[in-house]
Amino acid sequence: METNIEQLREFHWMIDMLQNIDAGLIVLNPENEIQVWNSFMENHSGFLAHKTKGKNLFELFPDIPVDWFQHKVESVFQLHTRAFSIWEQRPYIFKFKNYRPITGTAEYMYQNISIFPITATTGEVTNICIIVYDVTDIATGSLALEKANQKLEFLSRTDKLTGLNNRGYWQERQEEEFAKFKRYSEPTSLVIFDIDHFKKVNDTYGHQTGDEVIRECAQTLLSCARDIDVCGRYGGEEFVVLLNNTDAKGAFTFAERLRTSIAKLSVNYEQYTVQFTISLGICELTKAISSAKQWLELADQGLYKSKEGGRNKTTIFNQ
Ligand code: GH3
Ligand code: MG
Ligand code: MG
Repeated sequence: METNIEQLREFHWMIDMLQNIDAGLIVLNPENEIQVWNSFMENHSGFLAHKTKGKNLFELFPDIPVDWFQHKVESVFQLHTRAFSIWEQRPYIFKFKNYRPITGTAEYMYQNISIFPITATTGEVTNICIIVYDVTDIATGSLALEKANQKLEFLSRTDKLTGLNNRGYWQERQEEEFAKFKRYSEPTSLVIFDIDHFKKVNDTYGHQTGDEVIRECAQTLLSCARDIDVCGRYGGEEFVVLLNNTDAKGAFTFAERLRTSIAKLSVNYEQYTVQFTISLGICELTKAISSAKQWLELADQGLYKSKEGGRNKTTIFNQ
């Protein structure tokens, strides 16, 4: 203990200086007892330096994950190397309330921590020093940016009117499915459908009612599809669905369920009640189909047959 105190005296001038820096400074002995506790730590923890002196860190802060922390500290003592903890891995070590006005959204202070050995003149590591950096501004900025990026990504692949995948993103997914089929050959089907006589809906009830019809058509599609099915709005009143693990027969069952659900639907908008039907085309992917584009074209040929055959129908494209 005597040598400890002497060494601490040696460091005293530095510690005086470090008292006022805008970072936490703690010195621990090998028993995890606090030797130094600067004003940053006092201010944020509410524990005064003279009260923490000689106290076990983990008893004072039961929230600190002991095993994890000990593991870091051991390497500092034994290997004489630095150890770090960054906010991305662990938002904080010391649960301090965040009082920064501009980043008031964060409840607790985000912290980066650096632990380094304090060596005596004998070369032995007698204590370790922990520096706590308040990185709340950086962390909240970075998290906000990530959130904004996620939102942008969502918007860039979503159709505004219906919330379905937009054409561009759906096509990407279709290309992926096409590539996957080449490797795994699991049955995969594509369904395309188009609202029948939609021009008449617009002409009779107005464009806004038409929009509502498109929206509710998309909702019905989602309620009929499984989570893994990839639904998209391909164009005005044209929709597409990728059905994983589904052959033409399974796709037909799906398509007919969707067709009858739509036929039963009444869309209410302002003073109008609109009923409508859809026509569908199906194409199951085969090795003979040479591109994603061709796959869609063949399904579209099925759709064309349904229109020709009187509408409100499903047709499987037969090669
Ligand atoms: P068919 O049974 O042959 O499909 O007849 P149709 O009248 O539906 O013909 P078509 O598919 O060619 O017509 C599509 C119409 O959809 C034309 C266009 O004015 C309208 N439309 C396209 N996008 C939108 C949209 O976002 N909102 C509304 N309200 N109408 C749209
Ligand atoms: Mg149409
Ligand atoms: Mg159309």
